[in-house]
Amino acid sequence: MYLISACLIGENVKYDGGNNLHSLARSLYESGQAIPVCPEVLGGLSIPRVPSEMVGSRVIAADGTDVTAQFHRGAEQTLALAKKHHIKTAILQARSPSCGSQTVYDGSFTGRLIPGQGITTRLLEAHGIEVITIDEFARRQSEK
Ligand code: SF4
Repeated sequence: MYLISACLIGENVKYDGGNNLHSLARSLYESGQAIPVCPEVLGGLSIPRVPSEMVGSRVIAADGTDVTAQFHRGAEQTLALAKKHHIKTAILQARSPSCGSQTVYDGSFTGRLIPGQGITTRLLEAHGIEVITIDEFARRQSEK
């Protein structure tokens, strides 16, 4: 069983009310192999919401609001869900300040990426849960 970013299975939970539907993610969910989760919604943020980016160890919305606490709350709830279902690997959306696992936006809201991990990814990995992107999952599947 995997944990999967809810936006990847087509749930409209993104900051702009949209999703990041990926057919492989959707089929994993439909075959009962993945549990969807959106850390930002779990943390109490609304849909739609002002987009946020990581600035050092904090998360700041484009209007200047510090939303670090909500991001940490969502990460804790995601970790609790992962533990409850004995998840070993989470497939989370790339580049997000919650879900990113290799790169994140640099805090300038200009689309620039820097190496780094989102708040939820960091917490999951600190507890021994692997976090990969859907592209990495697809790559592993193609090698089988
Ligand atoms: Fe998708 Fe994660 Fe952002 Fe939620 S927090 S919309 S699951 S990338």
